[in-house]
Amino acid sequence: MGLEQLYNKALRLEDFTIEELVFLYQNAPTPDLMALGHELRKIHKRDDRYVGWIIDRNVNITNICVAGCKFCNFSRHPREEGGYVTTLQEYRQKIKELFELGGDQLLLQGGLNPRFRLADYEGLFSTLKEEFPGLKLHALGPAEVAYLARREKLTYRQTLERLIAAGLDSLPGAGAEILSDRVRRQVSPGKCSAEEWLEVMRVAHKLNLPTSATMMFGFIETIEERMLHLILLRDLQKQKPEGHYGFITFVPWTFQSDGTELEREHPEIREASADEYVRMLAIARIALNNIENIQTSWLTVGKEIAQITLYGGANDFGSIMIEENVVSSAGAHYSMNAGQIQEAIREAGFIPRRRNQKYEFID
Ligand code: SF4
Repeated sequence: MGLEQLYNKALRLEDFTIEELVFLYQNAPTPDLMALGHELRKIHKRDDRYVGWIIDRNVNITNICVAGCKFCNFSRHPREEGGYVTTLQEYRQKIKELFELGGDQLLLQGGLNPRFRLADYEGLFSTLKEEFPGLKLHALGPAEVAYLARREKLTYRQTLERLIAAGLDSLPGAGAEILSDRVRRQVSPGKCSAEEWLEVMRVAHKLNLPTSATMMFGFIETIEERMLHLILLRDLQKQKPEGHYGFITFVPWTFQSDGTELEREHPEIREASADEYVRMLAIARIALNNIENIQTSWLTVGKEIAQITLYGGANDFGSIMIEENVVSSAGAHYSMNAGQIQEAIREAGFIPRRRNQKYEFID
């Protein structure tokens, strides 16, 4: 199939094969890919004048982690110095600050800490929900759920049901990186496999827990593995029960290498360029024909590139990311407050609209 035929296939929202996506990625000019991404965004979003954004706050439950991801400068092994666990008093203070800024969602992330039991998360979630009834918890991720289930000898369903009962509102797609076990074994030896990640999400979708999907790229993965990642997400989304949330959004970001073990092991790695990010985001819009929202990652690519992606398939500018730690500790130093994020969207020619975690506008 030639490029024109593939463009038409994309506009008909048909499923692409890995080979077709690789061919597009390697041969289509960037302006063509962007134009296609933009057209598809219009098909999915109908009103394309708006770009969503959200006020939420990252809080790391703990930096103690046994996963040993080679791209992570943030975690500490249980026997290493510098490990911490966020205290209840600190949560209270951070939530008050979040509410003062007008936000109501905590993005709770953390390491795979062997000292934490499921009951600890249940206690934390229910205490925070009791003290702050308006609070939304976008928390943990498939890797933590799989880790907890294994340690507690529970199924993913039982683990998720208990977390939901304690106050979990939505499950971030953290820890996906690239859904290929060849890559995962090399860069995240202690994390769940690709199939385990997908299975936790499959169960979350059955329970109608809103979820997001992510991809970190630009390290040791091949182009084929990136495209496989997209196809696995698309095929999982197809399996969600009718009317359930499934993956509400997809967020691609680039590997940040500064000072990481992966950089030391692979000095040949070059972080993804701006052109590569724009192209990958547009390809994601083409491949993910059943995921409505695509969020750009200004935190890793910067404001200007993020603005460009709004014309290449992205319809969301994400969060003001109060206190992000993982990619920030590996070289991502961009920051934006609520005023700046709205200004960036306007500057790009769109109307900023504040949204909640379910991508519903709330302004
Ligand atoms: S990225 Fe997350 S799971 Fe991996 S080592 Fe860092 S804290 Fe642990």
